[in-house]
Amino acid sequence: MKKNITIAGAGLVGSLCALYMRKRGFDVSVYERRDDLRLTEITAGKSINLALSVRGWTALKKVGAAENVGKIAIPMYKRVMHDTEGNLYDQAYGNPGQAIYSVSRANLNLILMEMAEKNGAKIHCNQKCLDVDFSSGDTTFEHTKTGEKTTVNSDLLIGADGAFSAVRSKMTRRNRQQYSQHFIEHGYKELLIPANEDGTHKLEKNALHIWPRGNFMLIALPNLDGSYTCTLFAPYEGEESFEELNNNEDVKKYFKKIFPDLVPLIPDLCEQFFSNPTSSMAIMRTYPWHVDDKSILIGDAAHATVPFYGQGMNAGFEDCRILDELLDKHNNNFKTCFKEYSQVRKPNGDGVQDLSMHNFIVMRDKTADTKFLLQKKIEQKFAQQYPEKWVPLYSMVSFSNIPYSEAWQVGMKQEKMMQSIMNISNINETWDSEEIMEKMLGLI
Ligand SMILES: Cc1cc2nc3c(=O)[nH]c(=O)nc-3n(C[C@H](O)[C@H](O)[C@H](O)COP(=O)(O)OP(=O)(O)OC[C@H]3O[C@@H](n4cnc5c(N)ncnc54)[C@H](O)[C@@H]3O)c2cc1C
Repeated sequence: MKKNITIAGAGLVGSLCALYMRKRGFDVSVYERRDDLRLTEITAGKSINLALSVRGWTALKKVGAAENVGKIAIPMYKRVMHDTEGNLYDQAYGNPGQAIYSVSRANLNLILMEMAEKNGAKIHCNQKCLDVDFSSGDTTFEHTKTGEKTTVNSDLLIGADGAFSAVRSKMTRRNRQQYSQHFIEHGYKELLIPANEDGTHKLEKNALHIWPRGNFMLIALPNLDGSYTCTLFAPYEGEESFEELNNNEDVKKYFKKIFPDLVPLIPDLCEQFFSNPTSSMAIMRTYPWHVDDKSILIGDAAHATVPFYGQGMNAGFEDCRILDELLDKHNNNFKTCFKEYSQVRKPNGDGVQDLSMHNFIVMRDKTADTKFLLQKKIEQKFAQQYPEKWVPLYSMVSFSNIPYSEAWQVGMKQEKMMQSIMNISNINETWDSEEIMEKMLGLI
């Protein structure tokens, strides 16, 4: 008999997963708590746009979604750093032609929902997952407008309901289910740089802009309409924190001092600052990611992370692809497949979380450090000369499908090695020499 699957959550990962499961020929019903995206106006909240990289593209390609998404993607080939004097410095992300891509969250979600529906998935909006009975396969949803409750029975419940997953919360009440959550001390707020009157971008378009400021930072990603979405990541409390910004004067003073080149680009800065929310960020861990052959977690529900590597969605898309491969391998046997899914994906969930925390320090602090930029130049040169011996950490994460856990381990070894290279006394003068390349060869 054809298996029927219920998915809680029609966000980015739930919608892509629905498409994957329909392509396998399962009956798929998706229940989403929000209003139908197609009928609502998008407001500031959880990141307006996101960076899509190779893992995301690989998963989209496998189900034929990459072409549609390609139409809304803006390549970003480099980081452009802005210092407090308004000087700009760039750093390429990879080899010439390699880029990460800025996409609108809402448009990407719409494309995936529509493709899932076109392929036969049923999507029910305003349905909030309330309760799960893992033994019977019953899931109860409540209509968010009418309060009406519906219980559906399915062979499999996929929890794609994000960082505060109701499905995961039910799992954590089971015996021996591991769970932890850690909120970092920083929050974030989005601000919009509008387009020029002729619709062009006010900053260089094909780049991710960063204002690194030590313990905090601001970044900006381009949108198709010529605007930029900025995200200020700052501590909630203490010096130069959100708690110090209470009125227009505070905000003007803060931006003039810390991000002076940004002030003329956002005419309604204070209005935006006080009308857009300040949101928190957390790392959530759980194990296992399945209950027998009855339920699995996917995307943020399984491994919510802080956004500093731009990998949360990419990791969730990768979950969909790997799940599909495992279903092939296990001939659609849910029980054996899900056991392996938990075992294989959990270290990678941990890996993407470790990488994300690490990259916060790189972005907010190291990108303003000339020694770090020199280190990256040396690594890039060595990687070009010996591509089979060295793939830079950023490239392993963003331009390959190497498992995150492996990228993290190799990256930490590389870092240790680079420390001894950077400690060479005259490295500023000798970095471009064959001697340094040979030293690196010797250390590998
Ligand atoms: C500021 C910021 C910037 C980011 N930038 C990037 C980036 O550049 N690149 C990247 O790869 N990732 C990025 N991420 C991470 C990315 O947003 C997430 O990893 C991604 O959205 C996860 O998708 P998801 O479908 O698992 O969860 P979500 O996108 O959270 O979707 C979950 C869905 O489930 C629904 N839902 C919730 N509870 C229930 C319930 N009880 N019943 C039914 N439905 C429910 C929600 O309404 C939502 O539609 C960023 C995150 C933030 C916060």
